Amino acid sequence: MSVFTKTTMNCPACGSPVSFDLVHSVNAGRRPDLRAAILDRSFQRQPCPSCGTTFRVEPAFTYLDLPRKQFLGVWPASSLGEWKVHEEHTRAAFDKAFGPGSDGASLAKGMMARCVFGWLGLNEKLIAHEHGIDDTELELAKLATLRVMGDVKLGRNREFRLVGASDEELIVGWLHTSSEEIDGEFSVPRQILSDIDAAPDAWAALRAHVAGSTFVDYRRALV
Ligand SMILES: [Zn+2]
Repeated sequence: MSVFTKTTMNCPACGSPVSFDLVHSVNAGRRPDLRAAILDRSFQRQPCPSCGTTFRVEPAFTYLDLPRKQFLGVWPASSLGEWKVHEEHTRAAFDKAFGPGSDGASLAKGMMARCVFGWLGLNEKLIAHEHGIDDTELELAKLATLRVMGDVKLGRNREFRLVGASDEELIVGWLHTSSEEIDGEFSVPRQILSDIDAAPDAWAALRAHVAGSTFVDYRRALV
């Protein structure tokens, strides 16, 4: 079930109270419109009726898509520093819903449990799945790409994310966390994923740095 709570929040621009349907959980299998709204970045974004400023609330909810076998604990981008705590919370929430002895245990086979931070982190997992890309291999491919680029403009408000893909290429780019604007886009041959897949020993150490129990992200090696 998708759950929302009607709440009042203050407009970040003018401070006026704004009525808002705040999300607690999304069941994307039953509400494909919500998944589409996440992907087109309109979800949880609305204009202030007083000043007209459009704003988006930081995410803190559970995203479930049974047909696509995705369970995502979505946390505010600002909570990235506490990723260890949120990774375990996500694991615990997944085990409660789908672990042995739970009501959902029979559905658990093949389910992917992930902890993500911010709208950009969530979007990337949805885009990767849409294009049949393994998210751990994607993170390794991103690190390999950063190495080649020699780009060290890493920062808490900049994220290197998959934004699209074709049969031949991965489209990755630098995104600004709060504005969600893209600042530099690059295409990388999709072959890099096969290369990583073909050399498990060479990538084992880095793989251990980017993938944990639920938080699979190059930034776990950096933050
Ligand atoms: Zn306002």
